[in-house]
Amino acid sequence: MSVISPVQIQPRVSDFISRPRKMMINGQWVDSISGKTFPTYDPSNGKVLAQVAEGAAEDINLAVNAARKAFEQGKWRRMTASERGRLIWKLADLLEQNLEEFAQLESLDNGKPLTVARVADVPLAVDLFRYMAGWTTKIEGNTIPISPKGGQYFAYTLREPVGVVGQIIPWNFPLLMAAWKLGPALAAGCTVVLKPAEQTPLTALRLGELIQEAGFPEGVVNIVPGYGETAGAALAANPDVDKIAFTGSTEVGKLIVKAATGNLKKVSLELGGKSPNVVFKDADLKTAIPGAASAIFFNHGQCCCAGSRLYVEKDIYDEVVAGVSEQASKIKLGPGLDPETQMGPLVSDEQLNRVCSYLESGAQEGAQAKVGGKRHGSEGYFVEPTVLVNTNEKMKVVSEEIFGPVVAAIPFEKTDDLVRRANDNIYGLAAAVWTRDIGKAHTTAAQLRAGTVWINCYNVFDAALPFGGYKQSGWGREMGHDVLEMYTETKAVCARIA
Ligand code: NAP
Ligand code: MG
Repeated sequence: MSVISPVQIQPRVSDFISRPRKMMINGQWVDSISGKTFPTYDPSNGKVLAQVAEGAAEDINLAVNAARKAFEQGKWRRMTASERGRLIWKLADLLEQNLEEFAQLESLDNGKPLTVARVADVPLAVDLFRYMAGWTTKIEGNTIPISPKGGQYFAYTLREPVGVVGQIIPWNFPLLMAAWKLGPALAAGCTVVLKPAEQTPLTALRLGELIQEAGFPEGVVNIVPGYGETAGAALAANPDVDKIAFTGSTEVGKLIVKAATGNLKKVSLELGGKSPNVVFKDADLKTAIPGAASAIFFNHGQCCCAGSRLYVEKDIYDEVVAGVSEQASKIKLGPGLDPETQMGPLVSDEQLNRVCSYLESGAQEGAQAKVGGKRHGSEGYFVEPTVLVNTNEKMKVVSEEIFGPVVAAIPFEKTDDLVRRANDNIYGLAAAVWTRDIGKAHTTAAQLRAGTVWINCYNVFDAALPFGGYKQSGWGREMGHDVLEMYTETKAVCARIA
């Protein structure tokens, strides 16, 4: 019998959460101007985990001023691309050296299993910084042969940093989302004000300490925790911010767009999803069934790209539903720090209520839970992994993003009809196709209106692969070289030479 030893919380982690955390502005750790703090909770028991400085508009203003100063003057501006790359690489090294500490902090603050944070959240953030470190020296313009009459000209383009960037991130992958945002901004030479989610500010704040340790000049990165309605809204509206990058709900994404109109700052958005996961009858069910289960249950369904609409060809519908339900029933729920936990709690009381109200609405509309269907236990924010059948596209549980461990299984008969139904949604973030027929796989991938289509796999991410949404799932792409478009301006320079 194997004995799983309990996790020892690192003294550095206990120490970090034992004192109120400050915000990082202009290279200093400071209290909020109001002096207010807000609590962050352990979602496995609802108890207060730590107190954090509560940033508001006046703190955001200070942070934006610091970012502006760092952008316009000083070391960062004069630094070579190679030096910038070295700093980002060093940050990746420091993060890697402190992997266990970050994984523990993330697990405590967000609720996700420590085992997952160790192999996914932290290493993916490290990879992202390394990938972006490599880009600093490869952001290039072109020489352009232009042909106006009456003269000879030499024309070229420069790719310049867009300037001061505001970044607002969610709670589902707190450290990784900070990395997705900071990495390309720093690679491009921008300066940043980052606002982490109120539910999960801790790893971003600890990352701030590593940013200092790596040697980034003061003011290049400023981190202001606080509430969306105050700190976030102030950042989105600030007239001295050149670009705002947001990940979160489509509803708040629309508010960001409105707030950005004052100075017409650039906007990039990575928003919600209701991703169709399609299993054809010729799929290898030994991989498709666990694949469909992990597509929805990974990170407790709190993924913008969760495979939440499971379309299954009619002949194999019962088999796939039974298989995914069996997988769901075996998932061990518990606190993130328990080494046996496979699924932790949802992030907050609010998310628990939101997901449970979707489950109730599904039941009222006639959906039936093959497995799960309710809250798990009475302490912490746990929800049972749930497979819903007897569903149709008119139901809220099928058309709206739930952001919890709830999948709606829907049978289909004809591929044309399937494609129409899969695309009949306001979102277009991700999709997947499971089949052994290579032609059908690629034809269907081409027909699905989504920013990512996985074939015979799901949730495969890489710093080199662009990620983002069609339709109301967002504007622009994260990662890959596409993301650098969002952090640079193109300048055309034209010289008369004869
Ligand atoms: P959210 O409100 O969109 O939060 C995302 C970020 O935006 C947080 O940092 C939030 O701050 C901030 N924010 C909120 N209101 C703002 C405003 N008026 N101006 C500027 N920033 C603002 O998402 P949520 O309330 O945490 O979750 C609600 C739903 O959003 C989820 O159930 C899910 O459907 C969706 N969601 C999607 C993603 C994704 O990756 N696409 C991630 C998370 C949530 P505070 O957290 O401090 O309020
Ligand atoms: Mg919110």
